[in-house]
Amino acid sequence: MTNLPKSLRSRLAEAATFVPFRPVSEQQSSDGQTRKVLFALPDGNLIETVRMQYDRRTTLCISTQAGCAMGCVFCATGQMGFLRHLSVGEIVAQVLFFARELAAEDNRVTNIVMMGMGEPLHNYTPTLAAVDRLTDPAGFGLGARKITISTVGLVPAMRRYAEEQRQTPLAVSLHAATNEERDKLIPINRRWPVEELMEACRYYIALTGRRLTFEWALIAGENDTREQAQKLGALVQGMLCHVNLIPLNPTAGYDGGPSSHERVAAFQEELARFGVSSTVRVRRGIDIQAGCGQLRDRVILEQGNDFSQLLQ
Ligand code: SF4
Repeated sequence: MTNLPKSLRSRLAEAATFVPFRPVSEQQSSDGQTRKVLFALPDGNLIETVRMQYDRRTTLCISTQAGCAMGCVFCATGQMGFLRHLSVGEIVAQVLFFARELAAEDNRVTNIVMMGMGEPLHNYTPTLAAVDRLTDPAGFGLGARKITISTVGLVPAMRRYAEEQRQTPLAVSLHAATNEERDKLIPINRRWPVEELMEACRYYIALTGRRLTFEWALIAGENDTREQAQKLGALVQGMLCHVNLIPLNPTAGYDGGPSSHERVAAFQEELARFGVSSTVRVRRGIDIQAGCGQLRDRVILEQGNDFSQLLQ
């Protein structure tokens, strides 16, 4: 950029970067439809981004933090603990990395889910600033309804998000309908129990008029019984909502496994009795450890904890 003054060029060289990370490992699922990339940040932290190809859609699952403070027991990222928040640039750059790759294939990003490493609402301001850049017509220009923000239930942040009345949909990772069961899976439930969480959900729906999505990872013998389905049905009956049922992605640090097809079907049937709509989500890229945090764990296992060599 020789048309810029030399002093400005040297300031930019010191302070700015085009790509705030480098890809250090990647995996492709055997069906070729899912690709996961592990990025090394300049401080050696690792984050993951997943690209999922559907018929006409290309969805990216992006990270908002390195590690996660929420400690959900079945999640590889939760098992590693919190490392740090990502900056706006680090969140947006994950999308730009894949957008460049897709452009070369005459393809484009159609949907983004903030369901990678981290709890998006714990890193509230950078996450929402990233959404603004990604949806700005003068920026990346993606439709706001194409970006889903997920939360495990940070009630004050959910209320704040509701009050902003944004177009970006919200998904709540519920996974259990009673405090007894949810406390076991999601430690943050002890701080904001199911009753408070549901109040925040109703507040969001009332303020935005938008349908809320509940995510439910089906864990064999844990939260996939008819009784659990009935409790969920009773909890959300009549709400403007939809339930996504996702058989669990197994992780090394947790004993639970995915529910059988029969259990999934019975669960869904029970929800229908309560008039609650649900979809069974196909687990994507199970053979490439597509659950967040899993590729990082594998690379650490193989290469140790020193990532300085990965950055060279
Ligand atoms: S499931 Fe989400 S919120 Fe829970 S520990 Fe994993 S990354 Fe964090």
